[in-house]
Amino acid sequence: MSDAKHTSYVYGPVPSRRLGRSLGVDLVPFKTCSYDCIYCQLGRTTNKTVECREWFPLDDVLRDVAAHLDSKPDFITLSGSGEPTLYSRIRQLVSRIRDMTDTSIAIITNGSLLWKESVRESLLGVDLVVPSLDAAGEETWRRVNRPHNALSFDTMVEGLEGLRREFKGDYWLEVLLLEGITATDDEVRRIAEIAARINPDKIHLNTSMRPPAESFARPVSRADMERFAGIIGEKAVVVADFEAQGPEGDFSARKADVLALLQRRPCTLKDVAAGLGVHHNEAIKYLDELSREGTVESRLRDGKTYYEATEGDRE
Ligand code: SF4
Repeated sequence: MSDAKHTSYVYGPVPSRRLGRSLGVDLVPFKTCSYDCIYCQLGRTTNKTVECREWFPLDDVLRDVAAHLDSKPDFITLSGSGEPTLYSRIRQLVSRIRDMTDTSIAIITNGSLLWKESVRESLLGVDLVVPSLDAAGEETWRRVNRPHNALSFDTMVEGLEGLRREFKGDYWLEVLLLEGITATDDEVRRIAEIAARINPDKIHLNTSMRPPAESFARPVSRADMERFAGIIGEKAVVVADFEAQGPEGDFSARKADVLALLQRRPCTLKDVAAGLGVHHNEAIKYLDELSREGTVESRLRDGKTYYEATEGDRE
């Protein structure tokens, strides 16, 4: 399926509870990340790296962004298939998007590379940064985020603090808590102490709502999340989408939706993602699984990859 993964660098706009209609921009190949979080909804990291480079040609990405501006998104969001700060030309990208549109620009980052001055500088032109802090110390951080060996917890936190000092836009710190690992009063208090030093505008509390990379990355209940927000203080707000959690069969139900769609007509990856209202990386997971089961097959037509139900599964 590799040829299908980069039919476009841009996806959406997808509805986002925090960002409105968000036009996503992928800046790295699928699962290229400095972390391998146990809760990652994209699956395990296949390219764990701290190397910043121009993973995709800047002009190609910009052309794709320009082609999607008619959709009038609320935000252009640098996010996607891995860690966006691994893209070495963010500063130029942001500046050239500014030449094209007044739309606000956000970046959702794991924050692991903000200790690098060049990375912090490259983000100064965006309107909103959403970095992560999921643990209060080295050991738990290694357990939850499984970072690249070149990284250290204290240096990572220094980067979060440094960006706050230098960046003039909105800064929302995201804290994702996991049942039985970080969802304890003690860990949350220690996270709150570090967050107070960072001094973000808001602290968004999240938990693992979609199928995670590892089954032991379990979600925290809504009631406990609200209690933890109370411990952290007035800047904390629970942003976890408990409605998206669904029953245990959520993954199977969505997979069935994809199959139903493909039984009606062949679709590209983009069609499937739009049809389900999900990020294309989530659509890839369903297509991968259906392909493995043999209920879906892909065909190349006019340079595009189409997915369709195999004969026995067509309506
Ligand atoms: S959740 Fe984000 S930071 Fe963690 S492995 Fe997935 S893409 Fe990387």
